Amino acid sequence: MNLSFRNRIALYYMIATAIIVAIIFGVVYFVVKNSMYDNLDKDLSFEASKHAGELQLQGDKITFFNKAEWEENEHREIQINPVFIQIADANGKTMDKSPNLKNDELPFKDAQSYGLHFNTFLKDKAIRQIQKPIQSNGETKGYLIAAISLEPSIMVLLNLRNILIISYLLLLSVLYFISRYLAGRSIIPVKNITNTTNRITKNNLNERVALPEYQDELYDLSTGINKLLQRIENAIERERQFTSDASHELRTPLATLRGNLEVLIRKPRTQQEYEEKIDYCLSEIDTMSDTIEQLLLLARLDSSQEQINEEQISLNILINDILKQHQNDITIKNLRVIFENKIRENIELPKYYATLILDNIISNAIKYSKNKQTIQIILYASKRQVMCKIQDEGIGIKSEDIPNIFNHFFRSDALNHKSITGNGLGLSIAQKSAESINAEIEVKSELGKGSIFIVYFNK
Ligand code: ADP
Repeated sequence: MNLSFRNRIALYYMIATAIIVAIIFGVVYFVVKNSMYDNLDKDLSFEASKHAGELQLQGDKITFFNKAEWEENEHREIQINPVFIQIADANGKTMDKSPNLKNDELPFKDAQSYGLHFNTFLKDKAIRQIQKPIQSNGETKGYLIAAISLEPSIMVLLNLRNILIISYLLLLSVLYFISRYLAGRSIIPVKNITNTTNRITKNNLNERVALPEYQDELYDLSTGINKLLQRIENAIERERQFTSDASHELRTPLATLRGNLEVLIRKPRTQQEYEEKIDYCLSEIDTMSDTIEQLLLLARLDSSQEQINEEQISLNILINDILKQHQNDITIKNLRVIFENKIRENIELPKYYATLILDNIISNAIKYSKNKQTIQIILYASKRQVMCKIQDEGIGIKSEDIPNIFNHFFRSDALNHKSITGNGLGLSIAQKSAESINAEIEVKSELGKGSIFIVYFNK
């Protein structure tokens, strides 16, 4: 059954109330019925005891001694709910009866447990009856049967039942409309959320869902959706910024290239001039391809669909490999590199990510160090983590720039050192790679004094 949320709430509410009301009405009906029978039974018992005292025993014959008075009373009074009395002998044969029974006889039930009340019929009319033994000297001489008409009680019960059924149906239909109305009111905030989220497109991402008045579950839902929208907006903004930075970063060397080539063909040049310009252009092209390469790498790290090689490598071997690759720069700058491994055990890390992290940080340490300075690489471990500390005595980073160095294309004091090339993508790549393997990078740096990068790998 495909019901709307509103109708579903109304239906559940109705079913619950219908069950409760049905139970209450049922209890009311049975309490009334029982108390009615109780009263009838009390009256019957009273009448039976009263008339038991009006009997006279003559041998085996039992009769009423005041029958004449009785008959007279009956002529005088109109009995609303008359009590019928009958005397039967030990075999159930009628010996005497109250005048109001006329030609009729109350049914005798010998199998019936004596003294108990039961329902039976007198000429198709429902009656309630009691049958008491009449005893003399411990011997049952006969029975006193008392009965009272059940018709008025049955009528009352029937009326009560009809009233309860009609009011039950009425109540259910009123309840249906009330619960639909209430359910409709209580889901207004949900409708607001749907309307707002339907309205939001990439052009009005700054719109937010209005928060409901009360701090309930719908308030939490609205806040959750607003936070999600904020995250989406931030991500799209970052993407926009990245695209504009990337195109700017590629446009600048392209413009330089074009300028140089235009100048070059304006008039004939010497062989040496051609070689110098072409060398310059080639180095610009190399820089551009490096940037494109790194941009592609970043995009690959961003997309979770990319299946990255899970190959592992020993941390010790990895650092030695990286140092070997940069040996040329180390030698040119005459740097002193101290590598100290304080971990006894062999630490294996995902090769792809660990290389990206450590290669970028170590190559920065080399790049931003001055001639003859020292770079220290120390490996140490705690219970759960392995730390790799890379410390240099290079140009350092301004404290206000430290929070930004992991942003795409951000370059700090490097810009004041024109000879140090770069594009501001290395640490972004390192950071993204660290996130992929739940590693963390900590930076401490002082301008002019040097920097410390500590990478925390989980064991
Ligand atoms: P870049 O290509 O400019 O080196 P990175 O993303 O690797 O880009 O680094 C971002 C910026 O952080 C650098 O431009 C530089 O200003 C600063 N930086 C990174 N590492 C160091 C370091 N070891 N010493 C000084 N500055 C650093």
